[in-house]
Amino acid sequence: MTKYVFVTGGVVSGLGKGITASSLALLLKSRGYKVFMQKFDPYINVDPGTMNPIQHGEVFVTYDGCETDLDLGHYERFIDEELNYTSNITSGKIYSSVIEKERRGDYLGATVQMVPHVTNEIKNKVYEAGNVTGADIVITEIGGTVGDIESQSMIEALRQIQYEKGSDNTFFVHCTLVPYIYGSNELKTKPTQNSVRDLRNMGIRPDALVCRAPFDTGINIKKKLSMFCSVPVENVIDSIDVKNIYEIPINYYNQGFDEIVLKQFGLPIKKANLDYWKKLIKTVDSLKDEIEIALVGKYVELHDAYISVAEALKHAGYKYNYKVNINWVDSESLEKDDVNLKEVFKNSRGILVPGGFGTRGTNGKMKAITYARTNKIPYLGICLGMQLAVIEFARNVLKLEDATSTEFDSMCKNPVIDLMADQKSVSNMGGTLRLGNYECTLVSDTLASKIYGTNKILERHRHRYEFNNKYREELESKGLVISGINDANNLVEIVELKNHPFFIASQFHPEFKSRPTRPHPLFDAFVGASISNSHEKK
Ligand code: GLN
Repeated sequence: MTKYVFVTGGVVSGLGKGITASSLALLLKSRGYKVFMQKFDPYINVDPGTMNPIQHGEVFVTYDGCETDLDLGHYERFIDEELNYTSNITSGKIYSSVIEKERRGDYLGATVQMVPHVTNEIKNKVYEAGNVTGADIVITEIGGTVGDIESQSMIEALRQIQYEKGSDNTFFVHCTLVPYIYGSNELKTKPTQNSVRDLRNMGIRPDALVCRAPFDTGINIKKKLSMFCSVPVENVIDSIDVKNIYEIPINYYNQGFDEIVLKQFGLPIKKANLDYWKKLIKTVDSLKDEIEIALVGKYVELHDAYISVAEALKHAGYKYNYKVNINWVDSESLEKDDVNLKEVFKNSRGILVPGGFGTRGTNGKMKAITYARTNKIPYLGICLGMQLAVIEFARNVLKLEDATSTEFDSMCKNPVIDLMADQKSVSNMGGTLRLGNYECTLVSDTLASKIYGTNKILERHRHRYEFNNKYREELESKGLVISGINDANNLVEIVELKNHPFFIASQFHPEFKSRPTRPHPLFDAFVGASISNSHEKK
């Protein structure tokens, strides 16, 4: 039977609840258990797909095509497991499914209420995650902090699960803050006591406390917390500030966090295999060199909007023993006539244009692409970054006047990027998104096939517009290489350039599949080419 771990937060948000949840998952996996993770977001949006990246950060996409909270990206990178549609549940998703059932008459005339209808729906989402994945342990993080109005039905559902399944099948982790007060020079337990009281008011007694503090809280603080919060003293875990987040699982391991959970579940404590993780920590702590890569986007003021791209660059850097520094370039700032591109990209050894939606900033991105193409600077284009590379090539090399995407100009003369014919009829909003995994066949003797070392790949998508096959031959005749194709739909997935040290762009998002111990092939090759470029410059 699946066991369930729930991770709640108290006192303040931003304590690193997600990292705590994934670190525990990593430890349990390292002991041979099949783990799966879930995030509950209390907001009313059905998913973050329509949220502004400046407010909410990146939209992460699962292999089965769900648009999810960026925390799922952290989970996947930490535990190296692909998550699915059961992994991100919002209040909006819960309510819309309850209302749909109500309209269908499923409730047989009952008055539909928070308890039991909404709470049952929530419980089913927890159980579904266990059922569809066959995981030994499902770890569910509840977004926000205990006491928020939005999450009350979620907390109530968890209370019911604790009651139904019993404490040998459920484990509650509560993450809190133990602040240090300068002057009196002491750590304070009262905020934790208060937030545990809030949780207990809702009928949940935590099994473990994870205390974020600047340093080890020490036995006296732990005893105090234990007594006031009814948690065994050994279940009070310290989560001290670290300079390298990969240390966190090891810090928890040293305090026996995973053993406490397994003991309560009555599961055998198998030997943990953490050598690969310790090696990663060592690598990250001792990077020998640095390299700058430019990331040209329109949401650069919030780095979280590109979190998976930034992480993927870092991962590739680890492989080469390099720290990757990102030169965050606001694409709109490149649109001014007097902009000095040479100055902007002075220290950047590679240029990356990531995904994006809408027209704003696209001319600036295109200027960056021209600069990379003509100055032979390594270029990696992702999704919109591929579409713009095609447009730039059509305009400047093929001399195709007004070449553009119908996303920017629906009446344009030369739509080198366009909706698929059957999409045009779907809606006047521009059809539906192509989401999740699609197969791609690589053309032999291309950069792409060399990079991947195989001829079939699976990558994740999130876009509406496509390379327009009508222009394929013309573009190819001028030197644009089409190196990846989705055969089932005859769609261009990867383009590259000949006579350039490294210029490649994909319609999919490789960043979602990068892992700290296993960089994605495209990022690996791109960072490698940028490092070679920096050596030439020296
Ligand atoms: N806006 C483009 C499209 O919808 C690209 C999307 C993206 O970069 N994720 O096709």
